[in-house]
Amino acid sequence: MFDFKASKACFHLPEGVIYLDGNSLGPPVRATAERLSAVVKEEWGEQLIRAWNTAGWMQRPRATGDRIARLVGAPQGSVVMGDTLSIKVFQALAAGLALNPGRKIILSDNGNFPSDLYMAEGLVSLKENGFQLKVVDPEQVEEAIDETIAVLMLTEVDYRTGRLHDMAKLTAKAHRLGVITVWDLAHSAGAIPVHLEASGADFAVGCTYKYLNGGPGAPAFIYIRPDLADTAQPALAGWLGHAKPFAFDLHYRPGTGIERMRVGTPPILGLAALDASLDIWDQVDMGEIRQRSIVLTELFIRECLTYVPGLELMSPRDPMQRGSQVSLRHPQGYEIMQALIDNGVIGDFRAPDVLRFGFAPLYLDEDDIRKAVAILRKIISQKIWQDPKYQVRNAVT
Ligand SMILES: *Cc1c(COP(=O)(O)O)cnc(C)c1O
Repeated sequence: MFDFKASKACFHLPEGVIYLDGNSLGPPVRATAERLSAVVKEEWGEQLIRAWNTAGWMQRPRATGDRIARLVGAPQGSVVMGDTLSIKVFQALAAGLALNPGRKIILSDNGNFPSDLYMAEGLVSLKENGFQLKVVDPEQVEEAIDETIAVLMLTEVDYRTGRLHDMAKLTAKAHRLGVITVWDLAHSAGAIPVHLEASGADFAVGCTYKYLNGGPGAPAFIYIRPDLADTAQPALAGWLGHAKPFAFDLHYRPGTGIERMRVGTPPILGLAALDASLDIWDQVDMGEIRQRSIVLTELFIRECLTYVPGLELMSPRDPMQRGSQVSLRHPQGYEIMQALIDNGVIGDFRAPDVLRFGFAPLYLDEDDIRKAVAILRKIISQKIWQDPKYQVRNAVT
């Protein structure tokens, strides 16, 4: 059994704060600051450029990728780190289209995160006529998969509602009809067990600053199913994805396997911060995390629906149909969230009326959940949210 009490003590959280926004930006582990300082002083400062060799910097995107691979059910050597998630979405989509010549449609749903859809729009605008992005309701995705679709691009867990797509089932249908799949694991990695290899998914991408605590702007990851990795065409042909970067060849030749999805110089400081939190994630069994996450989200939903009037559950009621977040609607959602944050419970708000809460078992327990609901109840029942200071709109919600 994993020791959740001990893991809670490993996180740096402000005194008195109940943090229910680790689905947006996970908190640092206590070791992150020292790790960064050590990399700056001992590696960067002392070894300077030699550190690319002496400190293993050049291999770091693959080494850290292997640690992520374990958490998402992928074999070693199939995941590489770098860039931001939006870039990785573009890369996977472009490679997916190239693997399916003759087809021109990317299928996605309107529960997807806008950046994923924007990346698809940008990509089709670069191609000759006929390429298009088709967007349907999440419930219509399965039916909309047919022989005209080149790539199915889905985010497994909906960022607003927490609704979970059935990766294995949709991937199986896509493959029966010759469709390549791109799965975005932004709200899955570190939140729920993912079985990339077992599901047969072709491509997967995700970020590491949400549930995985890598820090703001932490490097993203990309996975290619190993049997496709040597044929996938990297559209963003950067020198570090080249077979021999230091031959300084004038023409691009893709590196072997997942290496080809590297683009430019890896973000060593970002990877160091991520590696510090992965020291905890390495010990974790995702099945145990899932069990604890269900206990916490069920408790939160039960307490909210029992004690707090006026809230409507937007997430699926069945825990098997949702990820590790709970979304509630309230007409005064924005003001309520500002009041909550001011009273030590941090979640976030998504327009037009969604209060969104993420649940991370590594640093949250039942006591936190009960306290958070009590504060939410007080804010609504005593109309504390009506204070004018909670009406001011911030740029980042
Ligand atoms: C958080 C999130 C992103 C953000 O992309 P960045 O490039 O890291 O800013 C993209 N897609 C999904 C599905 C997300 O949840």
